[in-house]
Amino acid sequence: MTAEFVRGCLYIAASILFVFGLKMLSSPATARKGNMVSAAGMLVAIATALTAMTEIRWIWLVPAVSIGLVVGVAAARLVKMTSMPQMVGLLNGFGGLASLLVGWSEFHGKWASESAIASFTMLSIFLTVLAGGVTFTGSLVAYGKLSGALSGKPLLYKGRNIINTGLLIVIAALGIYFITEGLDEIGTPYFTRASIMLAGIIVLSLILGVLTTISIGGADMPVIICLLNSYSGLAACAAGFAINNNVLIVSGSLVGASGIILTNVMCKAMNRSLANVLFSGFGSDTTAKSRYKGETRPISVEDAYLILEAAQNIVFVPGYGMAAAQAQHAVRELGELLEKNGATVRYCIHPVAGRMPGHMNVLLAEANVPYELLVEPGDVNPTMDIVDVAVVIGANDVVNPAARDDRSSPLSGMPIIDVDRARTCIVLKRSLNPGFAGVDNPLFFKPNTRMLFGDAKASMGSLVAEFKR
Ligand code: NAP
Repeated sequence: MTAEFVRGCLYIAASILFVFGLKMLSSPATARKGNMVSAAGMLVAIATALTAMTEIRWIWLVPAVSIGLVVGVAAARLVKMTSMPQMVGLLNGFGGLASLLVGWSEFHGKWASESAIASFTMLSIFLTVLAGGVTFTGSLVAYGKLSGALSGKPLLYKGRNIINTGLLIVIAALGIYFITEGLDEIGTPYFTRASIMLAGIIVLSLILGVLTTISIGGADMPVIICLLNSYSGLAACAAGFAINNNVLIVSGSLVGASGIILTNVMCKAMNRSLANVLFSGFGSDTTAKSRYKGETRPISVEDAYLILEAAQNIVFVPGYGMAAAQAQHAVRELGELLEKNGATVRYCIHPVAGRMPGHMNVLLAEANVPYELLVEPGDVNPTMDIVDVAVVIGANDVVNPAARDDRSSPLSGMPIIDVDRARTCIVLKRSLNPGFAGVDNPLFFKPNTRMLFGDAKASMGSLVAEFKR
């Protein structure tokens, strides 16, 4: 049994762990274990890759791993749950940067040590730096928009699509030159036309990442993060081809494919195409604001308690406001009290509620809400007529009836949770301000809607206190 054979077996084992880990991530009940299984696969892959190296430069490796460990553990512990979406964006970006650096260094390493580089390797290096560069700066912009460091408004200027397409064509032309002409220069001094071409491709890819993301609105950033996640996988996959590492090809493909599937799921949940997300500048039109007028019916905590106390069938609908208020524990507590009171309680989660895919699932899982109580809009909407109370906790766009009823609404066609069809709808939020999409919500003026104004955690806490009295 050769060392190569053992390494191959270990790489296959790592790949199997990735696949199973990914499968387990698809259910909240197994997601935590899935994360551990994937991490174990990564450990096996890294250890195996190290055994393949003829010379390990510990002087570089140990500090790099130590710094990564410290930063990673600190970030995991210190970053607030509400900052998770931008954190995920940043991590994608670092994945892209890592691939870019691998591709770049592989080119110079091969240049210095080999007499010929296969054109397929050159192509892989080109794709690695292109996808890695776009992912890196695109993710930085997404991070800036989600964290509020940059304006969430799309930066729209005339001819932006032409400029971006032109940039891509120039990069492709440089890439062709790099792959074909560059091969003739092997053995020439270090700074050759090919290495300058590669540097140019890197710079233009970084610019392309900024330009393509800056013209997309903040509300669409979670979708863009999924897409960039997919790009980072493609960059890793291309890097795997460049350095001839099978496990990197497998893991990159898994990330690339799952990222694009998630992007597709999110687009479907908003009833928009990916092209519309990328090119429409959604969020720049604020004329839809204040379109709906009428009287709201504010309600006190005491009156909300009386309605809930008499209800038999209750649906909680959480949204971004629950995350912002960190109200999930109070929500779970109220849910338990209502169940003790004899009511059926369910938690209906919209696929794009919050600011990242699965945002609400993560928060409710953290608060120990049983998974079997989580339901999807498709399961609840047909029965909404027999729901006594729909409690909307900091959700807005995902319960906006204009998406269903008003063809001229920017949200038109987006599937929503039909809370307005429940017998009573209690909305917990601080004001009548619109949600992330910037679109006014006629739900607030419906006759069966009661507005419980205030911070969601404080309102939930007061309701819990009423029940415990
Ligand atoms: P939303 O439409 O952004 O509304 C959140 C509401 O929470 C706001 O109207 C705000 O109203 C309220 N709020 C904020 N802080 C609060 C607090 N402390 N207490 C109580 N309420 C508070 O949220 P959503 O309904 O969850 O919709 C998500 C949006 O993000 C959609 O537009 C969706 O398309 C977009 N999006 C999400 C994803 C994703 O991955 N999840 C992907 C793409 C797009 P007040 O200021 O009046 O309190």
